[in-house]
Amino acid sequence: MSSRAEYVIVGQGLAGTALAWHLLWRGRSVLVVDRERGGCSRIAAGLITPVTGKRLAKSWRWDELYPNAVAFYHKIEAETRETFFHQQPAFRIYGSELERTECAKRSTSLLCGLVRLAAPVRAGWFSTPLGAFEMDAARLDVPKYLDASREHFFAHGAYLAAEVEPRDIELTATGVRIPSLSVEAQTVIFCRGFDAGADTWFGVIKSNAAKGEILTVRIPGLAEARVVHRGIWLAPVGNEVFRVGSTYTWEPLDTRPTAEGRAEIESKLREFLRLPFNVIDHEAAVRPVIDAGFPVIGRHPHFPQLAYFNGLGSKGSLLAPFFADQLAAHLCDGSEIEEKVNVSRFLVHPSK
Ligand SMILES: Cc1cc2nc3c(=O)[nH]c(=O)nc-3n(C[C@H](O)[C@H](O)[C@H](O)COP(=O)(O)OP(=O)(O)OC[C@H]3O[C@@H](n4cnc5c(N)ncnc54)[C@H](O)[C@@H]3O)c2cc1C
Repeated sequence: MSSRAEYVIVGQGLAGTALAWHLLWRGRSVLVVDRERGGCSRIAAGLITPVTGKRLAKSWRWDELYPNAVAFYHKIEAETRETFFHQQPAFRIYGSELERTECAKRSTSLLCGLVRLAAPVRAGWFSTPLGAFEMDAARLDVPKYLDASREHFFAHGAYLAAEVEPRDIELTATGVRIPSLSVEAQTVIFCRGFDAGADTWFGVIKSNAAKGEILTVRIPGLAEARVVHRGIWLAPVGNEVFRVGSTYTWEPLDTRPTAEGRAEIESKLREFLRLPFNVIDHEAAVRPVIDAGFPVIGRHPHFPQLAYFNGLGSKGSLLAPFFADQLAAHLCDGSEIEEKVNVSRFLVHPSK
């Protein structure tokens, strides 16, 4: 005897989790299925910053996405009675005179209200010959958020630990059937992140995935509570433990930490950290990049019982809440999906 859910979400990373919340808040029946291994959300640092890159670019649609993310994570904190979203300024050490001049210019225009001169940092901790600026920022404790959400979904009969491969899914006239789970649904949404074994329906979408490595280090004597940026970032965990990263490489796309990745992070860290450190962990994962880090969402144009939420790139914590809402509205009410992020755009030669 099959059980029924309106929506089956495959994957409980940042994409699947945000979508599940938005569908549940709309009163829909949802089943989230995750194989509980791999995925890149669980190693993500969860940093959310308004200014990115060497050119001090303002993060895409910051003024709209950031307040949306703040409200979203706080609402889930209230529902789950957990704390995992922390709004706290971060600071960025200038890497060049040009960067400093550019920041001064932008602080009264594009970045007005978001950046300011940083309070002096401890000279014994960091090398800041050109100074630093402070910016509004936040940090999501991603594993804690995912665990709290999973517990909530499970308690509401909306979570199952299992693997669902595309071959396990049968399309029917009115929806889908997943015999291996004895489940029938109106729509299955693929939220699987980067997956080397692409599926028949969305597999034609070109991936630009990027591997990233991250270290966990102990830095005796360092009590900095803010995230520090200087080419890479250094994020406090507590008790003199910090996470530091990350690298970008495109070949091979696997989850093996490498000696080169570690050396690159260590060398960049030494450029601004004056204290000795020792590495206590080293992880790697593959970021699901499709269209230069813009999300890709929507129903399959030929198989409307299948939908997709992917391409969160290196900003899943900021992007997921807003675009999960947009996708949920589309799935439930048929409302429009913006052209830029619409999956139809990427399915030029969809398999029929
Ligand atoms: C080193 C590194 C640092 C990062 N730091 C940040 C950061 O500071 N801030 C930020 O916002 N983002 C960061 N990111 C990016 C962030 O991790 C991604 O944007 C985000 O995790 C993507 O989420 P996702 O849900 O699309 O994919 P994933 O997290 O990969 O989730 C996919 C899920 O699907 C499940 N799954 C896959 N296939 C199946 C199947 N067949 N059956 C069942 N379940 C399945 C997996 O188990 C997994 O749980 C970082 C990434 C890396 C690699």
